[in-house]
Amino acid sequence: MSTIAGPVPAHALRGPSLPALRLTMLGSGTSTGVPVIGCDCAVCRSEDPRNRRMRPGLRLEVAGGSMIIDTSPDFREQALRFGIDKVDAVLYTHSHADHVFGLDDLRIFNFRQRGSIPCFGSAETMGRMRQIFTYVFEGGQEGGGKPRLELNAVRAPFDLLGERVVPVPVGHGEMEVFGFRVGRFACVTDVNFISEESFDLLAGVELLVLSALRYRPHPTHFSLAESIAVAQRIGARRTLLTHIAHDIDHGRLLLDLPPGIELGHDGLVATVD
Ligand SMILES: [Zn+2]
Ligand SMILES: [Zn+2]
Ligand SMILES: [Zn+2]
Repeated sequence: MSTIAGPVPAHALRGPSLPALRLTMLGSGTSTGVPVIGCDCAVCRSEDPRNRRMRPGLRLEVAGGSMIIDTSPDFREQALRFGIDKVDAVLYTHSHADHVFGLDDLRIFNFRQRGSIPCFGSAETMGRMRQIFTYVFEGGQEGGGKPRLELNAVRAPFDLLGERVVPVPVGHGEMEVFGFRVGRFACVTDVNFISEESFDLLAGVELLVLSALRYRPHPTHFSLAESIAVAQRIGARRTLLTHIAHDIDHGRLLLDLPPGIELGHDGLVATVD
């Protein structure tokens, strides 16, 4: 079941029926967010809270800790709204602004946790982050309130917080982006091409988060129809669509999706047992 979740007390995560992985969708919107600034379309004016979409991000809670996938410009608001009190690691899909511009707000977790936070992504993404956030990764301003982050360029599967994390390279226009698989969960966002090798890496996933931008085709993102076809090929028990633009009305579309495929929304919680 999907719910709009508020902060969840830590004790709720313990106990005999602990899920293997608990996902919170921090943001379900495309790069503009929804509502779009200055837009008076029906979705942007909608009072359905599921049509209010922050920029994309996920929290994954596993037995070994809590990881975030992407720090959007809305990361601070997401952390407050969904009760993020700990960030043990961050996985970066790519360096577009809607996925990284909340990076500076990670510093509060440095203060709270008294340590640096490991971040993972492709060599290209890590290189771009060094350019975009020069002030963070250059020396100087020590003790001046900068985030303390360790950038790790990865390509092969690696172990993190007791889980095997598998980078899944996919195409986003001209750019290569990483999806990530963690056990029987995977997330693939900002994608318009998946190779046969990467489909193989996604085989057997039970819970999938997949981007689906809008009804019309787009040069760097799967449209809704393309995402549905890809979701059906991957065949997860449950697929949650994300990175959604303002032409998709949550309530209206929900009725038309095939079984096992749902529109995500901010605050949606799902588990893998
Ligand atoms: Zn994006
Ligand atoms: Zn609009
Ligand atoms: Zn992108």
